[in-house]
Amino acid sequence: MRLILILNAGSSSVKCALMQIDEQGTAHDLARGSIDGLGQNAEFSMRFMDGHPAIKEAMPAGSQISHKEALSLILNTVDRLYGLSSLVAAGHRIVHGGPDFVKPVRLNRTNVDELRKLIPLAPLHQPHNLAAVDSLFELLPNLPQVGCFDTAFHATMPAIARNFALPKALTAKGIRRYGFHGISYNYIAEAFAARDPERAKGRVIVAHLGNGASLCGMINGQSVVNTMGFSALDGLMMGTRAGTIDPAVIFYLMREENMSAEAVEKMLYSQSGLLGVSGLSNDMRTLRTAAPDNSDAKMALAMFTYRVIREIGSVAAAMNGVDALVFTAGIGENDSELRADVIKGIGHLGFTLKTDANEQRDFQISASTHPAAFVMPTNEESLIARSTITLL
Ligand code: AMP
Repeated sequence: MRLILILNAGSSSVKCALMQIDEQGTAHDLARGSIDGLGQNAEFSMRFMDGHPAIKEAMPAGSQISHKEALSLILNTVDRLYGLSSLVAAGHRIVHGGPDFVKPVRLNRTNVDELRKLIPLAPLHQPHNLAAVDSLFELLPNLPQVGCFDTAFHATMPAIARNFALPKALTAKGIRRYGFHGISYNYIAEAFAARDPERAKGRVIVAHLGNGASLCGMINGQSVVNTMGFSALDGLMMGTRAGTIDPAVIFYLMREENMSAEAVEKMLYSQSGLLGVSGLSNDMRTLRTAAPDNSDAKMALAMFTYRVIREIGSVAAAMNGVDALVFTAGIGENDSELRADVIKGIGHLGFTLKTDANEQRDFQISASTHPAAFVMPTNEESLIARSTITLL
């Protein structure tokens, strides 16, 4: 048995997937799990596709679990159920590859130090991604580790889409758009091309709408435009992130409200978006349930939808038109009302809705065949596993 461990380590959780590699080198889902609430009241849960009973264990109340302890928990479980020797590699989701890491790499102490230099570009994600890599170096020094970058897929963006209209000395220092959700976009680009190769050669907008949300415009499966920018704060409204705002708001808050840079950053990353506008929740399902009797929840949903519609117009304009729109991620895959409202809102581009197909979540959900709209589940873990296998 050959297993790959896929890790997505954040500030408060470590998500993992265990994939089994078959004789042909294809990875299959074996288990998915997470350790949530690392700061306090941590809980370890894992479910298995091969019949092993699910795990759900609460850590002692108030205890703080480090990334290393979280990984030990996962490795102990792998050891108990399959034997640690069956683990042949680990693949990591790493948010930022900067200008240089534009494809998956085998991680070593030297390139991890290079990746550490990118922490200021993604201070809320990169340190935790790398903490998991460092922990595995300590726990299993001989295990090959591969890093896959959320920015890498967007390396094909042309300079006109990539650069800000800032003094060129700043652009040369790397103050530019990188784009994110690239692992998901890469997966969808390949999966869409496998299902509809002709259309995938054209202008495709992928809407990754989850707790984080962005749009990517692709031509022939390559990223040419993206709504996220220098950071994962830009573009669409998200669960707790504001998306695009006038940067002057930040100076105003710092000068007039005496907010520190850290306080503004926290507000824009974790107190805004659906949560900030509704004052209720960052979760789409909660807001849908509340909306009929709650005008703030209704406004949050309307603003989220409006921002998606507006940005689709922008991405379509950047590509001189659109041949296909693909919805993916938690909201994109599951919220038929959102998809219906968006498709109605982009009727001017030629999209019309096929209501029953949308409600059943068929592959194609538009009545229009050109342009056409689709729903596809994303699978970032599968893309990381494939990249890891290919690299090793
Ligand atoms: P993700 O970050 O991709 O896991 O997506 C999380 C988001 O998807 C949250 O806002 C969830 O409320 C939303 N979501 C998950 N399932 C559904 C559903 N059935 N209907 C509407 N939204 C959903």
